[in-house]
Amino acid sequence: MAPHAIMVSFHLQGHIIPFVNLALKLASKGFSITFAHLHFVHQHISQSQHDADPFAAARTSGLDIRYTTFSDGFPLDFDRAFDAEYLKFFRDGYPDKVDQLVGKILQSDSSTAASNYFLIADTFCAWPEKIAKKYGLVNVSFWTQPALVFSLYYHLELLRGKGHVPVDGRREMVDYVPGVDSINTKDFMSYLHDTELEVIHDVIFRAFDAVKSADFILCNTVEELEADTISALQQKQPFYAIGPLFPADFATKSIARSLMPEANSADWLNSRPPRSVLYVSFGSLAKTDRNVIAQVAGGLLLSGVNFIWVVRPGMVDSGGGGGGGVLPEGFEDMTRKRGLMVPWCSQNEVLSNPAIGGFLTHCGWNSILESVWCGVPIICYPLFTDQITNRKLVVDDWKVGINLCEGEGIINKEEVAEKIEFVMSEKRSEEMRQQMEKVRRTLENATSVDGSSERNFDRFVEDVSHQIFS
Ligand code: UDP
Repeated sequence: MAPHAIMVSFHLQGHIIPFVNLALKLASKGFSITFAHLHFVHQHISQSQHDADPFAAARTSGLDIRYTTFSDGFPLDFDRAFDAEYLKFFRDGYPDKVDQLVGKILQSDSSTAASNYFLIADTFCAWPEKIAKKYGLVNVSFWTQPALVFSLYYHLELLRGKGHVPVDGRREMVDYVPGVDSINTKDFMSYLHDTELEVIHDVIFRAFDAVKSADFILCNTVEELEADTISALQQKQPFYAIGPLFPADFATKSIARSLMPEANSADWLNSRPPRSVLYVSFGSLAKTDRNVIAQVAGGLLLSGVNFIWVVRPGMVDSGGGGGGGVLPEGFEDMTRKRGLMVPWCSQNEVLSNPAIGGFLTHCGWNSILESVWCGVPIICYPLFTDQITNRKLVVDDWKVGINLCEGEGIINKEEVAEKIEFVMSEKRSEEMRQQMEKVRRTLENATSVDGSSERNFDRFVEDVSHQIFS
């Protein structure tokens, strides 16, 4: 009988996508999966276009992946992303909901011995230890960000003890975190900078206490890219680098309908010369400051490049809805021939289109992995959370991208235009493109049959099966 994973993701897009890819990968190894997601996620997915649906591949895969939904008790349209009330519930009320759900799943399955089940939860969850103990389940934690970010949270007490957290505006080099050569405190995740602690800090800090009791930790990264950090973590707990986790059909979905109804985005992109289009996206989540949007738009105007820009409704910090009222006057008219603004697109398909020559990104970890996978050089404008630390990996360590602006947080359209021109000029960015090709090959090799991520994944499958059945 195959092991059966109950998988509970964190409720944000950037976590759900790698969770679904992990479910598919485990199921392809013969595991059964019950994927639990909240009603509101289910509703969002049901209403979304096919190409924004991370579950589409799982539904049509023919593998043993089952779905179950549960309610968090909040209205379906409640904006949960980083809402303090919701985070309090996530910390205090959510564990009981998962407890009931797991109990129900185990009770309702008469065909499989309960002992075949195990738990895979997002590392941001602090409840798995208790629930795993109660039901006698092996407890697997899945971290969807880089090992460096994991390690900094993991060594929080050490950082606090040395007085480097909270960062509180200081700029100091830290060289004592096991497996982390050296890192400036400015590159710590945003939550380690704050002196005033909110619920989100408590949620994360508790989660990293809890992960110390996980039986296994999976990480969506590549061993060769973070070797020292990973091997230091492996001294503490079984830690497996299994990334990048992507769908098998990475680049085959259609691009979402354009905001410009007369234009077809896929045709538009296909008709552009190779490496002539800059892709711009600040991710699925954070609100972006009005001034940043205005300066990026100004930089796009000055640079004269082709671009495709994801302008999500509500992405601007205050007022203005989408880009409305924030973009320079006449922006849309002036760029109609060379620019496309979309509310959403199939990012994987956009990035793998030969017309794309650069990616201006907020440095979400999935976006970085996807960009490297497609060999697209990166312009970094991190907004918050792990994005700050991810930037260091991209620009300082791997040298596959540049900063959008050098002055911290200060952005102006002239500098934006200069950075865009640099990345889009194949001659000027040649060295960076060569470096990108090396890192891209590292990812490709890791996921090949004998690659590190495949081997690590197989080792995990063996180790977890052994623990479940022993
Ligand atoms: N994404 C997409 N289309 C968009 C914007 C984002 O398909 O228009 C996907 C993107 O490919 C990535 C995920 O959403 O897989 C975003 O995750 P990431 O970690 O990059 O950033 P987050 O949105 O979590 O900040």
